Amino acid sequence: MTKRFVSIGECMVEMAPQPDGTYAMGFAGDTFNTAWYARTCLPAAWQVDYLTAVGRDAVSDRMVAFMRKAGIDTTHVARLDGRTVGLYLIELQGAERSFSYWRGASAARALADDPARLEAALTGADVAYFSGITLAILEPEARTRLAQALTRARLAGTIVAFDPNLRPKLWPSEQAMCTAVTQAAGLADIVLPSFEDEARHFGDADPMATVTRYQAAGAKVVVVKDGAGEVLCAEGTALTRHNPAPVAPVVDTTAAGDSFNAGFLATWLAGQGALAAMAAGSALAGRVIGARGALIAL
Ligand code: ADP
Repeated sequence: MTKRFVSIGECMVEMAPQPDGTYAMGFAGDTFNTAWYARTCLPAAWQVDYLTAVGRDAVSDRMVAFMRKAGIDTTHVARLDGRTVGLYLIELQGAERSFSYWRGASAARALADDPARLEAALTGADVAYFSGITLAILEPEARTRLAQALTRARLAGTIVAFDPNLRPKLWPSEQAMCTAVTQAAGLADIVLPSFEDEARHFGDADPMATVTRYQAAGAKVVVVKDGAGEVLCAEGTALTRHNPAPVAPVVDTTAAGDSFNAGFLATWLAGQGALAAMAAGSALAGRVIGARGALIAL
């Protein structure tokens, strides 16, 4: 029987600078990147769905076509009148990248407006994956609607996975972000934070403090990534540690965490346990950061 991995969030148009001064158009976004890599990692018996909203314009058509070409199911991509997709532009200053975003009115902000649509997408899902960015783009009522739908799905047996992906610029305040992310972690079976962000915004002294805090919030499994440093996976009191292989040169760290999550979850869902899952996640992330761009052909 087909199993379903449902990733929930926003995919954007990406404009990436080229050596000749032009920009190449692509599509990316944290939860979309994870869906894209999950499609490459999960066996064919799994269907990977993306739950979002786009417009009915030509660029939305292109985005949906891109998803389908990658093997991602777009049944739960809502098409909204009068809206379009968000966009970001990458600027290069030497090796440093900076990002400008046009996403304030993107269609994806309406992804949780219709409870029946959420229900249809999540009913019977084996896994539901979302992030702090998914939460950040929603109005508070829509965030509550999504939380309720995830809670119902989880009671019916869906494994809920969550990456806090802390992005203070998307929130009215750091406090609002930390409160919403902590509540969301309480809905999740698996929480996949990155230590650097957690230390900055929650003041965690070390990765174990991040584990303890998310366990206290209600998370079952906590997997703390830490760039080139040790990955820590806590299942109750059982701790497993993994050291990612060195990557040289690191070309572009975009989507390191997103791809790690896909590799981790695919291996975890295959029942191979924490150590194998962490190794798969960091091997995939290592390949992704060795090449330019969020989505690299494997
Ligand atoms: P995020 O992209 O969310 O900030 P991290 O920087 O914590 O995520 O990295 C996610 C994973 O990517 C790490 O657990 C590791 O496996 C891999 N990774 C990231 N940076 C490096 C690096 N410099 N060397 C080796 N692996 C890395």
